[in-house]
Amino acid sequence: MNTTELRDRLRAYVLASPENAIQPEWALSEDIVGMRMWDAPLVGVARADDPLFETIRNSDHILGDAFRLPGDWLPGAKSVISIFYPHTKDVRRSNGENLGIPSGPWLHGRIEGHDFIHATDRLVAGWFQEEGHAVCIPALEPSLVINKREPEDAVGRPMFTSSWSERHVAFTCGLGTFGLTAHLITEAGKSGRFGSIITTAELDPTERPYGEDPYAYCIRCGACTTRCPVDALSVEHGKDFQTCWAYLEESKIRFKPRYGCGKCQLRVPCETRIPTAVSL
Ligand code: SF4
Ligand code: SF4
Repeated sequence: MNTTELRDRLRAYVLASPENAIQPEWALSEDIVGMRMWDAPLVGVARADDPLFETIRNSDHILGDAFRLPGDWLPGAKSVISIFYPHTKDVRRSNGENLGIPSGPWLHGRIEGHDFIHATDRLVAGWFQEEGHAVCIPALEPSLVINKREPEDAVGRPMFTSSWSERHVAFTCGLGTFGLTAHLITEAGKSGRFGSIITTAELDPTERPYGEDPYAYCIRCGACTTRCPVDALSVEHGKDFQTCWAYLEESKIRFKPRYGCGKCQLRVPCETRIPTAVSL
């Protein structure tokens, strides 16, 4: 299977799967039953030995040495596949309407929707295993760690690191660049979630049209800063991860077993596309 075949097969599956919908057994309200959660995914591929992975690990300002290289996760790794699942219009609309509580569909996307992503990652991994290749899905490995870390950011706020980062991997795989909110802006925007698979299969890498510029697609318009209910965003200092994280923790209590916010992904020029000055 080459990269194009993978993308086409994956898109067909995601768009047709009855599992890619809010199910009656767990829907928070009847009116959202059957709402599709994810649109056609984007697929990017990087070589497992792409030097950018080393850069991510070797820089304390990126992830530092907590980050494990593809070959650390899977000996003999040849390719890394990153998949971006954009939220559907219905899910985005439901959560964009106000700056208060997250909508039911958005909460489902974070938990049950992510279960669908993990199941789809396993399905894709199975396609490669059928061809005789080894695979690893770091997000599903018990050894995955996410920690607060030193150093703090430029204005003394705590930062986080992890042994695998879907967004940094997606950047390396050519899917997009970071915005002020630290989400990744892709050609389908930034409202969505990621999955990734490491494999011993040799796939054609995806071009990175932005080179190594991590913020190439963010026009620093500041629209996202006005969307945050807890003022965690500013054009001058970017994202205050601690404030955002604390707000999400509160939502875990209120909406248990779900949580979420995501207001800064919606009703902004980069919601569904790469923004330009004229999209303001
Ligand atoms: S809304 Fe504007 S400033 Fe915020 S991430 Fe998008 S392009 Fe960047
Ligand atoms: S997810 Fe919510 S709290 Fe966090 S930065 Fe975005 S709008 Fe603010």
